[in-house]
Amino acid sequence: MTKDYTRQYWEDLLAKARPEGRHFIDGAYTAAATGKTFLRPRPMDGQPGTEIARGDAEDINLAVAAARAAFARGVWRTKEPLEKKKIMLKWADLIRQHAEELALLETLDVGKPIMASLNVDVRLCADGIQYYAEMIDKLYDEIAPTGPNARALVRKVPIGVIGAITPWNYPLIIDAWKLGPAIAAGNSVVLKPAEQSSLSALRLAALGHEAGLPAGVLNVVTGYGEETGKPLALHMDVDMIAFTGSTEVGKLIMGYAAQSNIKRVALELGGKSPIVVFADSDLDAAASAAAWGCFYNSGETCHASTRLIVERSVQDTLVEKIKAVTAREITLAHPFDMSAQIGALIEESHLQKVLGMISDGLASGGRRAFGAERVLDDTGGYYVSPGVIADVSNDMPIARNEIFGPVLVSIPFDTEQEALSIANDTIYGLAGAVFTSDMNRAHRFSEAIHAGTVWVNTYDMSNFATPFGGFKQSGFGRDRSVHAIDKYCDYKTIWQQFG
Ligand code: NAD
Repeated sequence: MTKDYTRQYWEDLLAKARPEGRHFIDGAYTAAATGKTFLRPRPMDGQPGTEIARGDAEDINLAVAAARAAFARGVWRTKEPLEKKKIMLKWADLIRQHAEELALLETLDVGKPIMASLNVDVRLCADGIQYYAEMIDKLYDEIAPTGPNARALVRKVPIGVIGAITPWNYPLIIDAWKLGPAIAAGNSVVLKPAEQSSLSALRLAALGHEAGLPAGVLNVVTGYGEETGKPLALHMDVDMIAFTGSTEVGKLIMGYAAQSNIKRVALELGGKSPIVVFADSDLDAAASAAAWGCFYNSGETCHASTRLIVERSVQDTLVEKIKAVTAREITLAHPFDMSAQIGALIEESHLQKVLGMISDGLASGGRRAFGAERVLDDTGGYYVSPGVIADVSNDMPIARNEIFGPVLVSIPFDTEQEALSIANDTIYGLAGAVFTSDMNRAHRFSEAIHAGTVWVNTYDMSNFATPFGGFKQSGFGRDRSVHAIDKYCDYKTIWQQFG
């Protein structure tokens, strides 16, 4: 039975909440070695948030030492697969049992609607941990073909200590995408969440420990990128960095790996994904996909459908339909409001960046079709209404750079060839979509769009069985699916000679 949630319910829960802001190292909450903390305003109303431990290299050293010790002792790595599976399944259960608390933490940090945090983010986090738990006792190694007097075992072994560095837009989901396969494969992890969103990661780690993860297997160090992420990525005893974030910082991470111990790197980076709409498509379906694909999570989604590439003859009709879908379905409101489909942007500086990009787009010839304005300023929070800037050309900065706000740019085209070249004319390659009723064209296009995921006549459909990640400067390595396990393993050959 579903509960009848109200705004008051969440206000009451917030009044009682005492979120934990200290690091989680070696199975216990720990203050920063320097004793320093930092405070960030809450996106939904600008009020001060929770005091968070401000980590630095010393805290990273402690967390890496705990992770290494756990790995070396084999307390997790060598446990019976069935036992490991039970512990991770219990972890997923605990996440579900604490769903309201985790949803509250996520909304306080990120400003997304509480019902989205509850029904999407927490649910997918638990599902992600469960997905990898279930794989633990179903993975086999290989025996390579050899002559009769030898046996060559090809073992898939955990890499060791994984540093996971994550962004603020979907903290619970992206943490689960990394922790699930990394821990299921037998590694130890030091997780550095974004400074904007530490709370859910800290709680997630404590729940993992409660479920039975041995101390040191999962550690969380909070703090700023330069002060904690950088020493983690430069650490000589970290074997791999699994990073999700901006392309700019992704490039730094590759540099840190090169400067230190040639640690492995997996990068999930930015995007500027095209949604190509031909005049022969179902325009209602395309309008709904374009609106939800771009505006969900206030546009703070790496694979958001941010470039609408539309056949010129239907641009105006389609934009009107997007406006109607948005007005009807995508309510922007305070995150505790039960009607909210989208909430606040992450922080003041990001709000100013989004507003600046909108002004630039208008100044360079774009036309505001609707929305894309600051709203609800009286709340003290950081809200921008979803909107479309039309008549944009693909060389304008608003069409080339990530806005990471609820702003869709519309770029008209005249021929199929032109549509394809605009779609691929980007440094990114995370996702894309094509809308057409011509299945030959759908097939041609889905093969030709150079991106990790391409949708046909839909947007943002996925499940855990499908790998997610990018081409080009959207990075490399895949989250989700059975293939994500490979990322956290190395192959080891054991050759046995007989007679
Ligand atoms: P960001 O790159 O600013 O920060 C990401 C993480 O890196 C944070 O934890 C941050 O503290 C840390 N960091 C910052 N500087 C660092 C440094 N010098 N060394 C080590 N760590 C450092 O990104 P963000 O603003 O948190 O997130 C938004 C970006 O993430 C967007 O570009 C978005 O497209 C991308 N993203 C990609 C995916 C994907 O799967 N491809 C998913 C979500 C977000």
